[in-house]
Amino acid sequence: MSNKQIIMFGAPGAGKGTQAKILAGKLNVPHISTGDILRNAVAQKTELGLKAKKIMEAGELVPDEIMVGIVKNVLFSDECKEGYILDGFPRTLNQAKLLDDIIAELNNGYPVIVKLSVDDDVIINRLSMRRVCKVCGTIVNLNQIKNENKCPNCGAENSFVKRDDDSEEVIRRRLKVYHETTQPVLEFYRNKTEIIVVDGSLPVDEVTNNILKHLKIAV
Ligand code: AMP
Repeated sequence: MSNKQIIMFGAPGAGKGTQAKILAGKLNVPHISTGDILRNAVAQKTELGLKAKKIMEAGELVPDEIMVGIVKNVLFSDECKEGYILDGFPRTLNQAKLLDDIIAELNNGYPVIVKLSVDDDVIINRLSMRRVCKVCGTIVNLNQIKNENKCPNCGAENSFVKRDDDSEEVIRRRLKVYHETTQPVLEFYRNKTEIIVVDGSLPVDEVTNNILKHLKIAV
């Protein structure tokens, strides 16, 4: 059970979302992205979305109590019974501590941490070239696909959109927040659980294979 409970860790643009999607498919557990949940709320102009919009556009963090409430609801739902791939949470020490309470209450074992390491200069370059297909949600890098007007996954044309927070100024802010606030959270897990560190600058399928190798899962 425990290796189907995974927390993806790493800087924005390290590939957490891309790998989480692939792993979720292979392990048959849901991909829980707090960023996606917030972006949906913003798009639907819900109360949560209205609160989160400006914070996200500035590259800052949404308050812990809001985020923990969201994650608690999802982790206690039936869809997470067999496991989950948590992407984008926890991002602060306080979130990690509150997540520990949720994990204890769930009483289902402790998640494994998968940390993707990527240098900041690679990240800045990646995020400025990152686009998301608005039809199927696939994340692409414009430098790495054959036709920059066609989604390689679903074939939709002119469907790529740039995230509002993928502008250079906001990317730099997000990276600063990551280094100052999120990266230290890894220490919290140091003696609690297995931390798998994988080079996230390698091609997508190599990163996936390395993660699976460490998780000792043959797929
Ligand atoms: P992501 O898609 O994970 O890069 O998240 C996009 C943005 O959503 C972040 O820059 C934050 O503004 C917000 N966000 C996502 N997850 C969290 C979290 N765990 N805590 C606070 N803010 C978050």
